[in-house]
Amino acid sequence: MNVFDRIDAAVAFSQEERMLIESVRVLARDTIAPRAEHYDRSGEFPWANVKAINALGLNAMFITEAYGGAPMSYAAYLACVREIAKACASTGGIWATNFHATRPLIDFGTEEQKKRFLPVMANGGLASLTITEPTAGSDATGMKTQFTPDGDHIVVNGAKTFITNGAMADLYLLFGKWSEIEDGKRAISVLVLEKGTAGLKVVREEDKMGLRASSTAALAFDNCRVPRANLLGKPGDGLRTLLAALNTSRPSIAAHALGIARAAFEDAVAYINERKQSGRRIVEFQGIQFMLADMATDLAQCEAWLWHVARLVDGGATDFGIEASMLKLKASDLAMRIATDAVQLHGGYGYCKDYRVERLMRDAKITQIWEGTNQIHRQLIGRSFVKK
Ligand SMILES: Cc1cc2nc3c(=O)[nH]c(=O)nc-3n(C[C@H](O)[C@H](O)[C@H](O)COP(=O)(O)OP(=O)(O)OC[C@H]3O[C@@H](n4cnc5c(N)ncnc54)[C@H](O)[C@@H]3O)c2cc1C
Repeated sequence: MNVFDRIDAAVAFSQEERMLIESVRVLARDTIAPRAEHYDRSGEFPWANVKAINALGLNAMFITEAYGGAPMSYAAYLACVREIAKACASTGGIWATNFHATRPLIDFGTEEQKKRFLPVMANGGLASLTITEPTAGSDATGMKTQFTPDGDHIVVNGAKTFITNGAMADLYLLFGKWSEIEDGKRAISVLVLEKGTAGLKVVREEDKMGLRASSTAALAFDNCRVPRANLLGKPGDGLRTLLAALNTSRPSIAAHALGIARAAFEDAVAYINERKQSGRRIVEFQGIQFMLADMATDLAQCEAWLWHVARLVDGGATDFGIEASMLKLKASDLAMRIATDAVQLHGGYGYCKDYRVERLMRDAKITQIWEGTNQIHRQLIGRSFVKK
């Protein structure tokens, strides 16, 4: 066992969870990873990977039994995200987004809403967490999408941008402002918009630096009529739901980043153990060993923090926003650094597409940007120490 295996071995997974994580690891290694280069180059949506994930019934792990799920711990979910992202960051992002958009439904949906929507996800549906707008990114509270009540319906007008799974989602967890509430933040509300709703238009899919196979869509809502029964909570409950959603999606983004970091670290170690210069393997140069030591130490410590946050969530904590921000910040900065160092350790070959580290460096970048940029997370963490 190496240091990383020992950290994982210390996590209190049940026997059943360990078996599932092992199945995901094998699927990721043998089926998803070999396709990653093709999907990265073509930019095609990785339907074959989504089908393979659904064949294992993976969405069910975050859905309660009553709605067709087979729930497991948050720690087990994070372990699966990390394995899938390690094999293909696009696929990892797609699957993690299903969790990000579904968790608020589980936490805040009514019985009737859960009965209608959760089986869609348990059966392998795709979902989108639909927050960002062209003029409301880091400050999501500046969103302008309008929810106007009209009898038994809510009329939705507005636009969203950069929405993961946006072009093919079955369910959109959509945030907007209630027209009858004046105060901007208090007006934020959230509803479920279903695929095929008239007036929903996919305006564009982005051509991206990394995560090239995941769909990142600009959406327009033109007088979409959504049943009032699809509103989560009351008008104005959206900000609370948003903050709760981000608390559990940010550690998931960290697990995604750590998957990329692990892949880059393993590739670098394998390469420098083979490649020789000046009659010695690259790994034998002390300057290189110092680089490896820094990468491995930071990776091990960040993974330990991942499991710390997972324990908080699984233990029922609700006040862990700062821990989640620290984790997202550290894991994503680390993924970017390790991927960049891995390219460096491959020399000129790392700069070429023949080696996976070239893709990993491009894939890593998004982890510093989405789910709150790292500037925003530094602000949240720093601000928490300001005395009132
Ligand atoms: C591939 C991809 C997938 C995405 N998926 C989703 C999704 O599924 N759902 C969704 O809702 N959104 C999604 N997003 C949007 C993402 O969350 C936003 O891009 C991100 O929050 C930043 O917003 P912005 O792009 O508008 O940048 P801006 O907010 O305009 O920020 C620009 C720069 O200014 C900095 N900045 C802004 N405000 C401050 C401040 N107060 N202090 C210091 N610096 C600041 C930022 O850190 C950044 O460096 C996705 C984005 C991408 C690229």
